[in-house]
Amino acid sequence: MDLRPQHEQIRDELDQAVERVRSSNRYLLGDELEAFESEFAAFLASESCVGVGSGTDALHLALLALHVTAGDEVILPSHSFISTALAVTRVGATTVFVDIDPVTYNLDPAKVEAAVTGRTKAIIPVHLYGQPADMTSLLEIAEHHNLFVIEDACQAHGAFYKNERAGTLGDVGCFSFYPTKNLGAWGDGGAIVAKDRDVVRRARALRNLGQSEKNVHESLGFVSRLDELQAAILRAKLPHLDVWNSERQRLADLYRVGLSDADIVLPQTAPDTSHVFHLFVIATSSRSLVQRRLADLGIQTQVHYPIPVHRQPPYEKAHLPHTLKETNRAAESVLSLPFYVGLSGDQIAHVTAEIRACG
Ligand SMILES: *Cc1c(COP(=O)(O)O)cnc(C)c1O
Repeated sequence: MDLRPQHEQIRDELDQAVERVRSSNRYLLGDELEAFESEFAAFLASESCVGVGSGTDALHLALLALHVTAGDEVILPSHSFISTALAVTRVGATTVFVDIDPVTYNLDPAKVEAAVTGRTKAIIPVHLYGQPADMTSLLEIAEHHNLFVIEDACQAHGAFYKNERAGTLGDVGCFSFYPTKNLGAWGDGGAIVAKDRDVVRRARALRNLGQSEKNVHESLGFVSRLDELQAAILRAKLPHLDVWNSERQRLADLYRVGLSDADIVLPQTAPDTSHVFHLFVIATSSRSLVQRRLADLGIQTQVHYPIPVHRQPPYEKAHLPHTLKETNRAAESVLSLPFYVGLSGDQIAHVTAEIRACG
């Protein structure tokens, strides 16, 4: 991962953004945040956006704004970044980890349906690696059982499911602007998008000490604001997001061609989805061999994620509705290859040649 090429490309816009914040003398809850919220909402074609302190907080505050609480069950994947589960646990609800589809690595709707009980309150699909989950099936299940759908779109800024952007299909969409995400800030940041005005209003209060108007605190809120500098940086980057995502798709195609006859599993794009390749993830039973060979050449790879959430210490006692066979298998075989805007065709050719040589 290297952010330099992206930052070099828009250096002037970034400098101007920093200068605007410096001269405004306003660092929190100012014009930059307001402008970013409306620009990001417009980009997604969503009614409203609330900037918050991180993607983890976006998930946490979204659950609170929907009144998900102790005694409720929330269905989510275990093959994800831990934040998805942390948010559920933080509101006192019970995590119900459901297995993934082995091709897309996203929630398997048939297994979601089977895990619904009288206590289920919400489903959190994670659009993992940049590819939207099977939203048609998940929304159908949610409607049938009267459940909220909270999209964890922290890896899928700009991706489409049919004609709609990831994050705008469910009741609430959550985004992270962690620096390495497809849309990344210069620090922590996140956003909640939602249709329902009351949910938006509650989320807005929750991020700022529960304040609904000056000196009136309607809820036990938090300090979780997207600051002016981050908002300004994100405003500079947002107009380039679609182009950068297309560039990611072009790089993914180069990898795919380069690896077409290697003995590995390549990422598949499901029907109805556009994959924005937050990560380029292959699967192989000889992962440690491939990883070691590349590391010896100074080529860094990563595993997202080697230990599924249900096997992390805080979740070891979590009740599982079924064995998470595909989740466990993915944890043992997935490998994220070098991937970022600015990676060259030659670099990809070098990586793919080395992987092919592993046999
Ligand atoms: C990055 C990420 C988060 C958390 O975002 P932070 O901004 O780091 O708190 C949540 N879910 C997924 C799937 C992520 O990739």
